Amino acid sequence: MHTVNAYAAPSATGDLIPTTIERRDVGPHDVLIDIKFAGICHSDIHTVRGDWGPQSYPLAPGHEIAGVVAEVGSAVTRHRVGDRVGVGCMVNSCGECANCQAGEEQFCLAGNTGTYGAVDRDGTITQGGYSTHVVVTEGFVLRIPDGLDLDVAAPLLCAGITTYSPLRHWGAGPGRNVAVVGLGGLGHMAVKLAHAMGATVTVLSQSLKKQEDGLR
Ligand SMILES: [Zn+2]
Ligand SMILES: [Zn+2]
Repeated sequence: MHTVNAYAAPSATGDLIPTTIERRDVGPHDVLIDIKFAGICHSDIHTVRGDWGPQSYPLAPGHEIAGVVAEVGSAVTRHRVGDRVGVGCMVNSCGECANCQAGEEQFCLAGNTGTYGAVDRDGTITQGGYSTHVVVTEGFVLRIPDGLDLDVAAPLLCAGITTYSPLRHWGAGPGRNVAVVGLGGLGHMAVKLAHAMGATVTVLSQSLKKQEDGLR
């Protein structure tokens, strides 16, 4: 185990404060990531406040993690020290059920393991990216392309995939119309992604206050 610095909530009502948390030793299939940036997602707030069920504390949230590989386990093949990588909302799954075998680990029949506040497959409670380091099994560590800065890559790991997935699923592209309700944290991602996919994009909003932002 390694003790690392983190920001964590001491209780459902307390502020996040500087503290330390434990990270497991790097196992054969694990990657140790030196975290450079972690996006802030509203799910982080819901979870630490206990809005979605009781939690164990201290709890460090953060599931939009971007950083650099600092160490790899002996059996790791996908990543090397120095790689620029990211971790999103999940850090583990059974790996054996039909959905995992199909690459749909988010639908793992045994339940996927959330990046924080979840019971991992070794029985420990996961802790998120508001910390200096994290140890994640290599299958849940994503490569970040060189052309993408780590700070802007981080929010893609939750807000980005949340909008990218349905756009891909429903075939957004040339000749298709996409309407996005609200130009917020996820909405602006959806606008940029759908536009990049070649779709005709419309923003639906209660006012024209964000018209310029939307067009830009
Ligand atoms: Zn999120
Ligand atoms: Zn599974």
